[in-house]
Amino acid sequence: MLRDSFGRVATDLRVSLTDKCNLRCSYCMPPEGLDWLPNSQLLTADEIVRLVTIGVERLGIREVRYTGGEPLLRRELPDIVARTTALTPRPQVSLTTNGIGLARLAAPLAAAGLGRVNVSLDTLDRDTFKKLAHRDRFTDVIAGMAAAHDAGLRPVKVNAVLMRDVNQHEAVPLLRYCLQQGYELRFIEQMPLDAQHGWSRDTMVTADEILDLLSAAFTLTPDESEDRGSAPAERFLVDGGPGRVGVIGSVTRPFCGACDRVRLTADGQIRNCLFATEESDLKSAMRAGATDDDLAQRWLAAVARKRPGHGIDDPSFLQPARPMSAIGG
Ligand code: SAM
Ligand code: SF4
Repeated sequence: MLRDSFGRVATDLRVSLTDKCNLRCSYCMPPEGLDWLPNSQLLTADEIVRLVTIGVERLGIREVRYTGGEPLLRRELPDIVARTTALTPRPQVSLTTNGIGLARLAAPLAAAGLGRVNVSLDTLDRDTFKKLAHRDRFTDVIAGMAAAHDAGLRPVKVNAVLMRDVNQHEAVPLLRYCLQQGYELRFIEQMPLDAQHGWSRDTMVTADEILDLLSAAFTLTPDESEDRGSAPAERFLVDGGPGRVGVIGSVTRPFCGACDRVRLTADGQIRNCLFATEESDLKSAMRAGATDDDLAQRWLAAVARKRPGHGIDDPSFLQPARPMSAIGG
């Protein structure tokens, strides 16, 4: 098992399939984009499946989430998903995407065994979308979410990041829209993981503020129907249910003590935390001929070193060198 020195066990693997993206969300990367990893540095589909297999078959990984960058940009995605769901024991397989291309891919992905999808949507206004993501792709995202719902990837989960003076006023309309469509909305506090290092605690919209904004229009009661376990979202029933909303207070309400995640970057580095400053290079080891046993040992050692928390509140906190898009959100 992937156990760290504080007794936490990692069972949830987040795999970044690429650092590239077709949007430029301002909380994530600059409008001009980033220096993408060269293709030779990206894990191939076979290398990804090999590492995921080691995780599932030897190290107790039970859930695999493909993310990025934008994972739908990897043409082999349906194949990677099918090979992942064919593993024994079969892991739950999910996807975090910006939704562009999902209208075409939702059905093949569902057929490949994909269980769930999280689609990021921060606004219901096309102009605000264009301003926030620097691309005019709002209608593609809406179509992608509908296609995922129709393909049976339900409930579609929607991730929204609120930013002051940009889309903060859309908290209530976003929730109303998601409830109408049968989607489950989760608000994520903005974290210091943008490539531009533009995050500031003073301007971030906190979980408390999000709950205040929503409470002006809805009655929220804590959803006690299932144990929160290691889930980062605090979930609330909206107006008595069955509709729900989640708030992920990564910064102001950290859940590091219950964290069960480990990450694999698109260039084959194991990261034991989003905010880790160290990585363990499985790609170079693999390309130098390491056996599955060697790779499993390196992975175990990387998780064993996990720190107790992200330490954003610590005066010595350092933002990781890699941005969210390169780590895999
Ligand atoms: N491109 C895909 C997408 O946008 O869903 C997957 C990768 S993206 C990095 C994963 C999630 O991280 C998205 O829901 C996005 O909104 C969120 N995210 C990106 N930068 C963030 C930040 N600085 N703080 C909080 N969430 C962030
Ligand atoms: Fe791309 Fe996702 Fe980052 Fe937006 S949040 S720029 S969609 S990787």
